[in-house]
Amino acid sequence: LSQLFRPLDLLGMVYRTIRQGLIDMEAMYTLIDTPTEVADAPGARALAVAGGAVRFDQVRFGYDPEREILHGVSFAVPAGGTLAIVGPSGAGKSTIARILFRFYDIASGAVMIDGQDIAGVTQQSLRAAIGIVPQDMVLFNDTIGYNIAYGREGATQAQIEAAARAAQIHDFILGLPQGYDTRVGERGLKLSGGEKQRVAIARTLLKDPPVLVLDEATSALDSRTETEIQTVLRDISRKRTTLVVAHRLSTIVDADEIIVLDQGRIVERGRHADLVRADGLYATMWARQAAERDAPPADVRVEDMF
Ligand code: ADP
Ligand code: MG
Repeated sequence: LSQLFRPLDLLGMVYRTIRQGLIDMEAMYTLIDTPTEVADAPGARALAVAGGAVRFDQVRFGYDPEREILHGVSFAVPAGGTLAIVGPSGAGKSTIARILFRFYDIASGAVMIDGQDIAGVTQQSLRAAIGIVPQDMVLFNDTIGYNIAYGREGATQAQIEAAARAAQIHDFILGLPQGYDTRVGERGLKLSGGEKQRVAIARTLLKDPPVLVLDEATSALDSRTETEIQTVLRDISRKRTTLVVAHRLSTIVDADEIIVLDQGRIVERGRHADLVRADGLYATMWARQAAERDAPPADVRVEDMF
């Protein structure tokens, strides 16, 4: 019976998301495999992943052709490298992540993975290569085990548990009334923000993608949970190409490159130390966050500062 209801749950979720004004697009990344707007090019091939190098080349894009959102964005993340994207709310950070996933086609420019234009590869192969840990995870009304296993078809219980262990949620799950068979979601056990993030991380670990997109939670997690999750994320991003949409700058001081996005344009770029020295927008954001860290409450987001 639960098999029968799963598509209904999904529809309900899609409906609610649309009602919320499409703000939680991240939440839908992992739920909708076939977008309506984008189709495979004729003769599209499977993406051949080498190291997962990502490149945006003069990307222009608008959800609505009348209103361009990204005005020629370029960056390159070498295989295994980490790019951090920061900037005020509405700057276009999540849009970059959606475009990499080819949720939408761009107006001009190119998005490449390992030298292949993503517009010319099958969406299935593209999505298999990218893992997303969204800001706000939406759980299926199903067991917690199913919610993790969704990262990989045919995952064994041993693989599921290994992923949960790495995401530091295995012990929590064992403490639930029915362990991995405990039902979660709207009609089951409600998980906290931190627990949901760990489920998302476990799911991504199971998928084991060469490219990782982390959209940092904007909702406040308590600082211990925050630190623990940051540790796990740093660990899983080590050997993967990672794009991180960051709100707390303290988490990206080691990034290979930071781009500061403002109204769809990169206004500053470099490593943390360079940007602090440059004494521009990033340095201002950093100084304010440092002041907030010293004087609690510490949970201030970049968005709040503009
Ligand atoms: P950020 O993640 O930096 O806060 P987004 O990438 O989500 O910003 O949004 C960039 C801009 O695109 C904003 O002006 C936002 O209103 C607009 N936008 C985002 N999603 C959509 C959408 N689905 N349809 C139309 N406009 C959108
Ligand atoms: Mg966003």
